[in-house]
Amino acid sequence: MDAPRVVVVGAGPAGVRATEALVASGLRPLVIDEAPLAGGQIYRRPPPGFRRTTKELYGFEAAKAEAIHRTFDDLIDFIDYRPRTLAWNVQDRVLYTVRDDAVTPVPFDALVLATGATDRVLPFPGWTLPGVYTLGGSQVALKHQGCVVGRRTIFLGSTPLLYLAAYQYVKAGAEVVAVLDTASFSSKVRAAPKMLSNAPMFAKGLYIMAVLRRFGVPIENGVRPVAVEGEDAVSGLCYRRRGGGEVHIKCDAVASGFGLRPESQLAELAGCDFRFDPVFRQWLPQPTGDGRVGNGVYLAGDGARIGGADAAEVSGELAALSLIEDLGRGPGDTARVAGLYRRLTSLMRFQAGLASAFPWPADMAWNLPDEAIVCRCEAVTAGEIRRAAQRSLGGGREINRAKAFSRVGMGRCQGRFCGLGAAEVVAAALDQDISTVGRLRGAGPVKPISLSSILDE
Ligand SMILES: Cc1cc2nc3c(=O)[nH]c(=O)nc-3n(C[C@H](O)[C@H](O)[C@H](O)COP(=O)(O)OP(=O)(O)OC[C@H]3O[C@@H](n4cnc5c(N)ncnc54)[C@H](O)[C@@H]3O)c2cc1C
Repeated sequence: MDAPRVVVVGAGPAGVRATEALVASGLRPLVIDEAPLAGGQIYRRPPPGFRRTTKELYGFEAAKAEAIHRTFDDLIDFIDYRPRTLAWNVQDRVLYTVRDDAVTPVPFDALVLATGATDRVLPFPGWTLPGVYTLGGSQVALKHQGCVVGRRTIFLGSTPLLYLAAYQYVKAGAEVVAVLDTASFSSKVRAAPKMLSNAPMFAKGLYIMAVLRRFGVPIENGVRPVAVEGEDAVSGLCYRRRGGGEVHIKCDAVASGFGLRPESQLAELAGCDFRFDPVFRQWLPQPTGDGRVGNGVYLAGDGARIGGADAAEVSGELAALSLIEDLGRGPGDTARVAGLYRRLTSLMRFQAGLASAFPWPADMAWNLPDEAIVCRCEAVTAGEIRRAAQRSLGGGREINRAKAFSRVGMGRCQGRFCGLGAAEVVAAALDQDISTVGRLRGAGPVKPISLSSILDE
């Protein structure tokens, strides 16, 4: 009998641990990643010639980064590894990949999607000015390109990564003008009991804040951005304090982020169900606890549910064990699975705490001025989306109708970045709960690819 064709998309912590378990069971998976080097987001490897040490690059997580990199390097001879390769569609048990404009269909018997997450973007006036970056973008610049996004950077948003990214900048010698947190101090206090379920991680957060204060970085809670200032580039930021009162600060870059959103488009195309999650306030794929979607597809890591790197490793292993069992390659190791599942549940409890401590400030989208851009690919404003939502009333009160009337989410990003903010604008315009307006439906290609690569196929 032919060996089963097993494919893993993503070589971050989830994909690496899944691959390790698959290889240990005697399988030789094909591992696809669009990045040039394995490691994923948190353990992103610098290009050759980089002089910063592992400790400087990954801080507290240096040992885990080294372990993931070493594990993957040791697996290379036992897998078929395709870096710089994008998986852009999946249909009828065939994954479509593209590398250097050459499309390759990859039929599979089993597919592990460990595609990670991206920044969860929320528009505010001026967010499309050159010099405004996502938090993740500011980190990628530091980790992969060895540069900072500005000389005087403001970090703005609602996520623990806000403090982490600011800390990484300060440690790299950059000037951080301020950390402006839209989450209130009281939301963090309320979430503390859940966050204490992972005491070391909680302590790390406190340490990072203490270091920022030691470097003299002002930290403010409960703010709202009013507008990024500048004509052709960022020259400052105006924000409103919690108690009212507007403040203007000069800066030449703003790094903003409001949490993460799973890169779940391939999961959707593979037939996975989605459900609205009120804690994370977004639609999330619904695999079973141990990663099964059905039809030979498995989900792992942040691409299924934002859980952080440790949870990604656990869920990667779990997904692989489910796959191995489903292929009939040995009885499931119930004790191992139960242990992994317990650890995952505990780690996810911590994440739920983080989600409550750093809530998504939906009111920023509700209160956007009509002229503010929401969908930057198609230059669709909040006012246009509101009018489209009203026009579409007869045909359905949801985001895809508003898309049809306004073109929101029809551009290069296919709604990956504007979709969640646009849904808030639609919900507020229709005076509906966010859970009732749905989500932008995914379609291949999940990321931009050149037309010539498809036409030549
Ligand atoms: C930009 C960014 C920065 C972050 N920084 C930190 C941090 O400093 N500290 C921290 O604790 N957490 C950080 N996080 C969160 C952390 O990275 C994740 O919790 C963790 O990496 C999840 O692991 P994963 O394996 O699920 O996904 P990832 O590590 O994201 O790995 C997913 C991999 O899949 C690949 N991929 C995705 N889609 C495709 C596709 N269609 N085709 C081919 N390959 C694909 C990607 O290139 C990537 O290598 C960050 C997240 C982001 C998005």
